[in-house]
Amino acid sequence: MTLFDSPAFDRHEAVHAFHDAKSGLKCIIAIHSTARGPAGGGCRMWAYGSAEAALEDALKLSRAMSYKNAVADLELGGGKAVIIGNSRTDKTPELFEAFGRAVEEVCGRYWAAEDVGVSPADLAHARKHSRYVAGLTGHPAASGDPSPITADGVFRGIELAVRRAYGQGVGGLTVAIQGVGHVGGILADKLHAAGAKLVVADVNDLQARAVAERTGAELTRPDAIFDAHAQVFAPCALGGAINMETLPRLKARVIAGGANNQLASAEAGRALYEKGLTYAPDYVINGGGIINVAAEIRALDRGEAYDPAWVETKLSRLMQTLDEVLQRSKDEHRPTNEIAGEIARARIAEGRAARA
Ligand code: NAD
Repeated sequence: MTLFDSPAFDRHEAVHAFHDAKSGLKCIIAIHSTARGPAGGGCRMWAYGSAEAALEDALKLSRAMSYKNAVADLELGGGKAVIIGNSRTDKTPELFEAFGRAVEEVCGRYWAAEDVGVSPADLAHARKHSRYVAGLTGHPAASGDPSPITADGVFRGIELAVRRAYGQGVGGLTVAIQGVGHVGGILADKLHAAGAKLVVADVNDLQARAVAERTGAELTRPDAIFDAHAQVFAPCALGGAINMETLPRLKARVIAGGANNQLASAEAGRALYEKGLTYAPDYVINGGGIINVAAEIRALDRGEAYDPAWVETKLSRLMQTLDEVLQRSKDEHRPTNEIAGEIARARIAEGRAARA
């Protein structure tokens, strides 16, 4: 299959592949759209089974970033980088320096930040070779790790969805969390503090145990999390958690979590709607992190310091948008992912028209 025949190809503007023999870097930077501004999106490091799998992920994730940035009303298009490698064993400063040179070669059409497997410390190496790297620490415009703001938005979004589905807050309800890394771990702490009961699973057993110890969460196997007796299912691992096989197993009436690309297909989105479930579209509920990154890009452009008040205003507005999407789904008898997709595509088209 060629790039242009891939089902994940959606009229992407550019796809760059980089190889650096000295550091071993193999990476793909996919730019879905620059209609609303330079493409913004994280860099994921993952031990993909094949280059095709990495390409497919970069294509899907960069498209999701276009949608996410548009729905959050940011002056950013959508892009994503994937580095092929194991983040536990293959990371070196040289690898991330080579990644920084790759970002620089894209000449500002793509801004990199953190995603799965990549930390602010890794990006500090990339930043030595490109100014188009955000989510850093140690300078006045720096916004730091985006995960806490992402988790904050996801927590607030779960509260909104739960109030609609159950007529109460999360206190006393059970939330099943798939993946308790940066976002899922902080989300677990917030839910625990709000009085929710938790069931958690992670392929990294140590991580799962650490979260269970501090929150009293019940531990379950990664393949059993879909069967958990919970009112909320929060996917916070990788994409595709909601598919035609897992959907019939879910007991929860609310699906709301931090992972990108939670729906394996549009068919899964329609099926969950027909089952009467409330789904908070992933690129709406998890937009807090990219809002935080956008604050750093904005501050750098203006020569100002990072502004937490700007972030809070954008995040509150995004949560209102999520509530509007949930309300429209009820009023218009349509799946939330279809409504959110329409909002995103309309804003991307507006951006394209404004720049034409
Ligand atoms: P992370 O790597 O810190 O955490 C992901 C966790 O999921 C890891 O602990 C991993 O072991 C676990 N995991 C992977 N596959 C699993 C499986 N099949 N079952 C159970 N656990 C599994 O990454 P993160 O930064 O927390 O991101 C989590 C998700 O949220 C990703 O989809 C990411 O793209 C998305 N996201 C993150 C941010 C952010 O600010 N970090 C922002 C928006 C979206």
